[in-house]
Amino acid sequence: MPGEGGLVKPFEVAENDWACLGSVVSSTENTLTRNGSNSYQDFTFAPSQVAIPRCNVSIFGASSSGFSRLRNLRIRVLDPRDQSPDEFLATLPEYGITSEAGRRLIGAVLAHDCYSVETWGQKYQVPKRLSSLVEPLPRLKLDAHVTSPTDGFQKLRFLTADQLAIETVLIPLEKPGAVSLCLSSQVGCVMGCVFCATARMTKRRNLATWEIIDQFAQARAIAREQGRRVTGVVFMGMGEPFLNYDAVIAASELFRCSFGAQITSKAITISTVGLVPEIRRFTRENHRFRLSISLGAATDAKRAILVPIAARAPLAEVMDAAREFATSRHDRVMLSYVCISGCNVGEDDAQALGELIGSTPVRLDLIDVTDPTGRFSPPSDEEMRVFRDALTRYVGQPVVRRYSGGKDIQAACGTLAGAL
Ligand code: SF4
Repeated sequence: MPGEGGLVKPFEVAENDWACLGSVVSSTENTLTRNGSNSYQDFTFAPSQVAIPRCNVSIFGASSSGFSRLRNLRIRVLDPRDQSPDEFLATLPEYGITSEAGRRLIGAVLAHDCYSVETWGQKYQVPKRLSSLVEPLPRLKLDAHVTSPTDGFQKLRFLTADQLAIETVLIPLEKPGAVSLCLSSQVGCVMGCVFCATARMTKRRNLATWEIIDQFAQARAIAREQGRRVTGVVFMGMGEPFLNYDAVIAASELFRCSFGAQITSKAITISTVGLVPEIRRFTRENHRFRLSISLGAATDAKRAILVPIAARAPLAEVMDAAREFATSRHDRVMLSYVCISGCNVGEDDAQALGELIGSTPVRLDLIDVTDPTGRFSPPSDEEMRVFRDALTRYVGQPVVRRYSGGKDIQAACGTLAGAL
C-alpha cells in the first residue's frame, strides 16, 4: 500500500489526463475534485484512501500510467508494460519481489498475451503480491478494424482512455504468414509535414509506453487468430517517434526482450524526420534497433516547404548525424524519401541527393506520396524511371522503391488521422 515504501510519489495531473481521471473517479463515486490548478494540493477526496483503477497521470511532468492508489496525496504506478524491462525489474526489490517473478510477469503479458491474474499465478507462477500491485492492466479500446481488399493491409483504430484515436497497421510481408506492425508513437504530430494527414489532427499528445505496447499486443492477437506471425515492428505510424523518445525506446526494449515479445532488434525500425539531437543520442546510447531517417527533400529550401519543422535543422547536420550513426554501427543508414510528382523527383534533386550523401553508406528508400487531399500526387512511372536513372548516376548506392500499401483504407504512409 502507499506509504509502506515502494513507488510512492507526489504527483501532478496533466491537462489532457483530466478527462480520463475524472471519468474514473466519478464511476467509483469517490470524490476527487479539481479546484483551479492541476496541482495535487487541489485534490480533496473521501474516504481517506481512494482507489483509482487505472488512469494516465503525469508524474513530475513525465506521462506514465498504471494502477494508481491515492492516499495522503501519494500515488503508486506499477505496470510491466510502461517502462523498459530493466527499469521495471529494478523497482521490484522495493516491494520484496524478485526479478525472476517480474520476468515471469513480463513473459506472461508480452510473450503469451495473458492478462488473467488467475492464469498469471497458475501457469506462470507470478506471486500474488506482484499481481495485486499490477492488475488490472488497462487496455486500449479497439474501435475499428478494416482490411484492404486490394493488398491485404489491415488498419486498426484504437481509442485511448481520454477518447483519442490512434491507428496501427498490419503489413503483410512477402514471406507467407509474416506480418510487420506499423505502430503510432503519438496522437497527432507537431512536425507539420505538408503531405501528412497526422499533422492536421488537432488533438496531440505523446503515447504512454503501455499504449504503444498494447497496439502491438492487440494487433499481434489479430494476426495470430489469422494464423500469421508478427516478425517486425516499424515506428512509422502517427507521430514523430523521437519526440516521444523514452517511451519508444522502452517499448522497443520490451519488444526485443528475450522474455518479452522476442522480436529481433534488427526487425524493429524507428523512423525520424531528422531530429538531430535525438539521432545523436540514439547513436551514443548504442541501441541496436534500425534507424530510418526521412529526408523529405534534398535541399534545405525544398525541405523548408515540405517538412517545415524538421527543416529547422540544416540537411548537412542531419547527414552528419546519419554518418555518425552509420560509422558507429558499421552499417548502412536507411534514408527514406517521399516522392512527389513535379516537386522533388527531378534530375537536380537526384544530383543534390548525391552531393548530400557523398560517401556515407546508405540505403535509399523511395516512397510514393499518398495525399488524400489531392494536393500532392505520386510521380508517374516515367518520372520515376528518369529519377531512378539519375540516382544511379549521382548516388550510386542501393535504391529501393518501397511499397506503401493500404491506400484504399487510408493506411498508407502519411494518411493516418483517426478516420476510416
Ligand atoms: S510525416 Fe511523420 S513526422 Fe511528419 S507530420 Fe506526419 S507523422 Fe509527423
